[in-house]
Amino acid sequence: MPCPQCGTQSEYSSANPYRPFCSERCRLVDLGQWASENYRIPENNPKPENDEY
Ligand SMILES: [Zn+2]
Repeated sequence: MPCPQCGTQSEYSSANPYRPFCSERCRLVDLGQWASENYRIPENNPKPENDEY
């Protein structure tokens, strides 16, 4: 099956600890995108007055 991150065809086997990704790198990249999206919460701006600069 294709890796969701880079599209490389990888074996979908239980021997691959990073499935459905092809490697640890792709898995970490995907988790990183996920984390950064969660970090973009609109209510997380304690000092809106800084926009006056
Ligand atoms: Zn990959």
